[in-house]
Amino acid sequence: MVILKDMPRGGHEQVVFCRDKSVGLRAIIAIHSTVLGPALGGVRMWPYKSAEEALRDVLRLAQAMTYKAAVSGLPLGGGKAVIIGDPRRMKTEGLLRAFGRAVEGLNGRYLTAEDVGMTVADMEIVRKETKHVTGTSKKKGGSGDPSYPTAKGVLYAIETCLKAVYGDPSVRNRTVAIQGVGKVGYQLGELLATAGARLIITDTDPQRAMLARREFEAWRVEPDEILQTECDVLSPCALGGVLNRKTIAKLRCRAIAGAANNQLEDPSDARRLEERGILYAPDYVVNAGGIMNILVGLQGGRRGYDRAKAERLVRQIPATLHAIFSKAREEGLTTAQAADALAEARLREAKPQRAKDVGIRRAVPLRGRTGRTRVRR
Ligand code: NAD
Repeated sequence: MVILKDMPRGGHEQVVFCRDKSVGLRAIIAIHSTVLGPALGGVRMWPYKSAEEALRDVLRLAQAMTYKAAVSGLPLGGGKAVIIGDPRRMKTEGLLRAFGRAVEGLNGRYLTAEDVGMTVADMEIVRKETKHVTGTSKKKGGSGDPSYPTAKGVLYAIETCLKAVYGDPSVRNRTVAIQGVGKVGYQLGELLATAGARLIITDTDPQRAMLARREFEAWRVEPDEILQTECDVLSPCALGGVLNRKTIAKLRCRAIAGAANNQLEDPSDARRLEERGILYAPDYVVNAGGIMNILVGLQGGRRGYDRAKAERLVRQIPATLHAIFSKAREEGLTTAQAADALAEARLREAKPQRAKDVGIRRAVPLRGRTGRTRVRR
């Protein structure tokens, strides 16, 4: 079975399969690591063709969350959840609440949030069954939709790439191609247009593409053209796997910095990008603004969410990228390898942490001397 092969290979701690026939719930929750803190990661609802496909996705995404938190110095672990099904047809209150009960059963080892196919309103429903939900509405004291801080972080990453490539971080009169103008891509477009960048956009949803074209005076291309358009920076903000042997050969950009998770189809694609002289800003570093925002919401406790603190954290993204670019240059690594190495070093060094040390006022896993996980209630 794929699970028995993939779990030890990725080093996952726990994988939970959830099913509630009465509401049509089929979900998988993967906890990759709680070494640095509770496993945080969004829940994605997607019409996977098979349970195996969903399992592979959730294992990969959960691992990326561990690396994302670790490389950015955040006191969080990595996890993810997927619900198998078409969100437009199958998402009901009953299904969301059943998912919430599954999250509650993990006693805070896994903290959920919204991801593709989910909204802040959905997370409010999940919260009826569990308090281990993040990114809930600001009106109710939560940190709100993480898409805007994510978009801000992508903007900073684009500026960092421009500085590395041209010696000047300004986006003014630079051309940025955005693949996918959804929650993050649209707000990124807004930030870039305001700062004077020239935009090329695409989206498989024609209405979204038209809106972005009109609002940002952008050049609109078809979804299958965006990766070949000439630009300074390509920003993948749709789904993963877009950078592969076939597409990399056709790219006409100097750098890549986008929000999408798992942009490289295979780790070896990072070397292909380097050989083509394209600077790749590792996706999980670029898109960490969302979890930084969530972390600040968690640490706020009853005092609530501190926006300035979240902004300060997101502003650290360029420093992390500089460290990665330098390490890659000095050690002959790809930028993706350098990011992984920094994340792995932090995980190795991590001392067992108590929840109060990291300021999170929720039930979180604690590691005893034996290294086994126990849960504070
Ligand atoms: P979204 O669903 O709101 O937006 C994705 C957009 O991409 C949609 O408009 C969709 O129509 C479009 N799209 C899908 N396939 C496409 C294709 N082949 N070509 C062009 N457009 C396509 O999702 P989002 O929240 O904006 O997230 C975008 C990506 O960023 C995802 O990979 C997500 O996992 C990642 N991410 C998001 C956040 C966040 O805060 N929302 C944080 C970290 C990472």
